[in-house]
Amino acid sequence: MGKLAAAGKLTVGVKFDQPGFGLKDPVSGQVDGFDVALAREIGKALGLAEDDIEFVEAVSQDRIPFLAEGKVDLVVATMSITAERRAQIEFSRPYFLAGQSILVKRENSTIAKVEDLNGKTVCSVQGSTSEQNLRSKAPQANLQSLTTYAACVDGMKNARYEAVSTDDIILAAFAASDASLKLVGGQFTQEPYGVGLPKGKTDMAQFVNSLIAKWLADGTWDRLYNQYLGKVEGLPKAAEARGRLPATAP
Ligand code: GLU
Repeated sequence: MGKLAAAGKLTVGVKFDQPGFGLKDPVSGQVDGFDVALAREIGKALGLAEDDIEFVEAVSQDRIPFLAEGKVDLVVATMSITAERRAQIEFSRPYFLAGQSILVKRENSTIAKVEDLNGKTVCSVQGSTSEQNLRSKAPQANLQSLTTYAACVDGMKNARYEAVSTDDIILAAFAASDASLKLVGGQFTQEPYGVGLPKGKTDMAQFVNSLIAKWLADGTWDRLYNQYLGKVEGLPKAAEARGRLPATAP
């Protein structure tokens, strides 16, 4: 971490298409969201100015390669901590707990649970746990894998897919700005999000862990949750969401 501060720059992989977590404003070119705000807090803790942080779009399948190639220093991009990924990169402790769910058009009456996706055309994203989970939980689904969730949601609105499946919090943020969409099926997995770091950077992971502990204790986490996710319907209050957060993950 000291090296990063000395370099005077931090390059962070975030999402550009996900409301609430990482969304790029097409007019201003600014990215913002819960993940982006956490990355800014990390930069601040390193003594960097906001302008010293460069945000790079890291779609799901690019997150691990970008870390491995040194294209980014950190990934803060709705990334679930899994044993398989942990073999390739370092993770911080969990900073958010989501669970996989299903987004459909409001008028849809045929999909109520994950098993109902069998025989249906479902969109998810390459390189995500969502895609993997669908293969095991709805093996007969006609799974279409794109590069972003925004493209999946657009495709469903244009009747190319009957459902989109990924983490509930991602889907809920899309539904929050579009009354024609609804979530169904509850949470059928647990997705603890971690900050991703290059393999071997355990000192950096420890530093980020200490920051997460501080944000949870000093109100920063609650403030950012309320700011970025507060308007999303059906979410627990900040204190409750914080209380559900596991201290460790697989
Ligand atoms: N949290 C899941 C994952 O890390 C799905 C969300 C995403 O693809 O960003 O794969």
